Amino acid sequence: MNPGILKLYKIKKLLYKGLILCLLSFITYSSTFASTLPDLEFSVHKLSSKVAGHTLLIIGGIQGDEPGGFNAASLIITHYDILSGNVWVVPNLNFLSIINRSRGIFGDLNRKFDKLNSTDPEFQTINRIKKLILDPKVDLVLNLHDGSGFYRNAYHDRLHNQNRWGQCIIIDQNQVGTKNFSNLSLMAKNSIGHVNKHLLQQKELFHLNNTDTGSGNLEMAKTLTYFATKNNKSAFGIEASKSFLTSKRAYYHLLAIESFFNQAGIKFKRNFKLSEHHIKKAIDDDIQVALNNRKIILKIENVRKHLNYIPLKKNSIIEFQVNNPLMTIVASGDTYSVFHGNRQLTHLSPQYFDYDFSLDAIDMIVDGNHKKVLFGNIVSVKNAFMVPNLKDHRVNVIGFTKEACANESGVMVTKDNILKNYSIDKKGTLFRVEVYKSEKFSGMVLVDFGEKKLPDLNVAYEEKGPNISKNIF
Ligand SMILES: [Zn+2]
Repeated sequence: MNPGILKLYKIKKLLYKGLILCLLSFITYSSTFASTLPDLEFSVHKLSSKVAGHTLLIIGGIQGDEPGGFNAASLIITHYDILSGNVWVVPNLNFLSIINRSRGIFGDLNRKFDKLNSTDPEFQTINRIKKLILDPKVDLVLNLHDGSGFYRNAYHDRLHNQNRWGQCIIIDQNQVGTKNFSNLSLMAKNSIGHVNKHLLQQKELFHLNNTDTGSGNLEMAKTLTYFATKNNKSAFGIEASKSFLTSKRAYYHLLAIESFFNQAGIKFKRNFKLSEHHIKKAIDDDIQVALNNRKIILKIENVRKHLNYIPLKKNSIIEFQVNNPLMTIVASGDTYSVFHGNRQLTHLSPQYFDYDFSLDAIDMIVDGNHKKVLFGNIVSVKNAFMVPNLKDHRVNVIGFTKEACANESGVMVTKDNILKNYSIDKKGTLFRVEVYKSEKFSGMVLVDFGEKKLPDLNVAYEEKGPNISKNIF
């Protein structure tokens, strides 16, 4: 997981004794997403190497219903290391439309790059992304799309013709007036050559699509790539086919992106194998949400549809951090929905507590070894764990059955002692250990009885702390 991607949000919602008093802006949510509108601006991730080189800007999610593109962009951030040159990534340009699974809830964002009224709700978004594109450091721009069917330059059949967009690289013209990377058609053809060498099926061939925008193509004249081209930036649209599942679309996007890395002299390391199966795994790999200054940690990988009695803080705003740029939390009635891209992964049902701040870590005996574990971390357990007797606090292992006691502090706990359906994950291996002081909630750690070896998040999170990450965003 890349260190630069923790994110701090605040849901500005006041909560009083379990009753939710909606602030003015939250009362009328025909769209339940209105409440987090200000937090759903796109994020910019600048992956810089120590070796000087060109800068490639990758943009995903300009349309909210094209998950192949925005998941590929997100994977560059979470699963690639850039070893020379620089890669800047916007994985969630139209974030609100992404979580609504809509092409564009305020119309098509990719038709707003020519003329746009300042009253348009996306006026600021357009200005921000234009400014990024025009940054003198940016040499190349890739705009990732999922398009319908399969592009061909002549009519073959209903799914394969010149009005389809899938499986092609789009350029607005053959040449652009830049010092580097001026031959757009040559670069696109090189990339297509690379992709076509790695086709999963022969019929999935990529083609070149030159929209010849300058000679009167009024629709394409409103797009991001033409804005970039007009401003002497080398820009390409990459289209995977909507006929495929997300992981296959992302496969083709990543092939194309890597070919542009190669052409721009950008060296990189990818830490998963480029296959549909591994992409699918990498998309959900280790995604986490931390709430209220890491007093609460939830692993969202393979999570249950509902998580109940999440101990939120009374009379307070809710803060959350995510470790993946496609994730966010949205208030929805009296629960909270956790999203990753187009997918609503789980609902959190809160229970409200006053918080205790007298403790920020607990001692644990894990498989015979002593550990100090900060709240907000996940501990891997093979056989058994125990939280030794605490003086002023009690421990609640959620789902613990062995004894009818109110305090599991000092009790050895094995997986068999916890009811499987109280787990966070569907597999029944990940459980909540909550600490309370009298009626106040002190903090939570997760114990993971799954076999997969977890990285030592304890250390990682201390280094990546929220104060550092806030500046990165
Ligand atoms: Zn698109």
